[in-house]
Amino acid sequence: TKPLQRKPEWLKIKLNTDDNFKDLKNMMRSKTLHTVCEEAKCPNIHECWANRTATFMILGDICTRACRFCAVKTGLPTELDLQEPERVADAAAQMGLKHCVVTSVARDDLKDGGATIFAETIRAVRSKVPFCGVEVLIPDFMGDEASLQIVMDAKPDILNHNIETVERMSDHVRAKAKYSRSLELLARAKKMNLDIPTKSSIMIGVGEEWDEILQTMDDLRRHDCDIMTIGQYLQPTRKHLAVEKYYTPEQFALLKEEGMKRGFKHVESGPLVRSSYHAHEQVRSASQT
Ligand code: SF4
Ligand code: SF4
Repeated sequence: TKPLQRKPEWLKIKLNTDDNFKDLKNMMRSKTLHTVCEEAKCPNIHECWANRTATFMILGDICTRACRFCAVKTGLPTELDLQEPERVADAAAQMGLKHCVVTSVARDDLKDGGATIFAETIRAVRSKVPFCGVEVLIPDFMGDEASLQIVMDAKPDILNHNIETVERMSDHVRAKAKYSRSLELLARAKKMNLDIPTKSSIMIGVGEEWDEILQTMDDLRRHDCDIMTIGQYLQPTRKHLAVEKYYTPEQFALLKEEGMKRGFKHVESGPLVRSSYHAHEQVRSASQT
């Protein structure tokens, strides 16, 4: 494996750990909930939690897939926790969240891929925290339309599914997913409910070319995707896919322009941008049509 490149200045962030933040962390422990914010060691955690946005990971912390960029454990998942939707809703209420993102590992072992638990989580948050927007970041459910319908019937505020990378790199980066299947999912969601904004993300720096990023934007737009986020890929450990390139903040700004030109309602593009970053603002701009 290649040695790690030195991280550029703009990727270094300072952490503060004030009491309010520690309280939130302890609350998560006591509810045995997983947040992506903590587990992925997301660099935006202070900003997001202060802005009342958090990302919960439901359906356990063991994934049936093993994408080469992802730090989540791979293996046979544990059984289903039917109380989880209520616990997420309680935590969202306690944190006073305005926007909550719900995501999961890929549960290819379940018949509906976990869609029912997604739907119940949307409903539970709605009923306990009426003013909190709920965005779901779903796996591809192996292309199963009925599973997607279950989620869409619960009417999330945003339907998010990540395409993750450009077409050429897709097999290399996320072996069990398919570029075309992800596009199809986004188009289907739009057909099922025109009013629910769709969203997708890529991480760059895994070996793609600039033109391929633009091509991915075109592909997403052709499948009626409304919101796109673009962030720098960072290698979680040395065993994961190496970083091929660090893009500059100026290049990210240029990508945002390219995206807006193509008709996305919102593009969030920056070195530290993660799928759920500034998610709250994205709902607002997507509904301003
Ligand atoms: Fe959590 Fe997403 Fe914010 Fe990161 S960007 S802290 S994962 S809500
Ligand atoms: Fe990670 Fe999602 Fe891939 Fe599972 S499917 S390995 S959680 S990116």
